[in-house]
Amino acid sequence: MAGDTHSPATLISTILRITERKIVPLTQEGVKAGSKLFGAAILTRSDLSPVTVATNDEKVSPLLHGEINCIQQFFIDTPADSRPATKDCIFFATHEPCSLCLSGITWAGFNEFYYLFTYEDSRDLFAIPYDIDILEEVFRVPGPSDTPKTLRERPLYNRKNKFFTAKSLADLLEEIGDQVERERLAAEIVRVKKLYNGLSETYQEGKKAGVETASAWK
Ligand SMILES: [Zn+2]
Repeated sequence: MAGDTHSPATLISTILRITERKIVPLTQEGVKAGSKLFGAAILTRSDLSPVTVATNDEKVSPLLHGEINCIQQFFIDTPADSRPATKDCIFFATHEPCSLCLSGITWAGFNEFYYLFTYEDSRDLFAIPYDIDILEEVFRVPGPSDTPKTLRERPLYNRKNKFFTAKSLADLLEEIGDQVERERLAAEIVRVKKLYNGLSETYQEGKKAGVETASAWK
């Protein structure tokens, strides 16, 4: 796992750099075309270099979420002999993966992933509530003793399970012992998150203007 080779600080700073330099520019193009602002990257576990970077392409298909598009490009566009095994890679999603993408990450064999924005961020900052909606409506089966309160308090999925371990960058931040370093990176996370404000506006304006997309849930 990552903790064996890369410190939480290295993981955070590398992921933020890749987000700013590679994912955000791609996302700028995507939102203009009517796609959502979700992106992803696959990094080698050895040196955290990006193998594949992709963003949402729902203009083409409602299943081409940033993560799925990234996994597809990783397998389809990278020649097999230069493609690392998924177990030797770390997956990054700009936004906490939805149920489709959790399954995609699992089926592809990635056993470790990180995300910048949580489901609550997607709902509250980006007006995209469907990650939570779908997990609650499709997957959350109440037990006989459940009350609305116990249901609400139950996590929507297992962030640590036999297939993968999932952490937000905020979770990683808490693992940093050095206070100065932790505060420096906390500010960096805030700064990079803010890069998404304008992207969200472009997407929401396109939605209102009726920009064409294959997605049923906008
Ligand atoms: Zn998804």
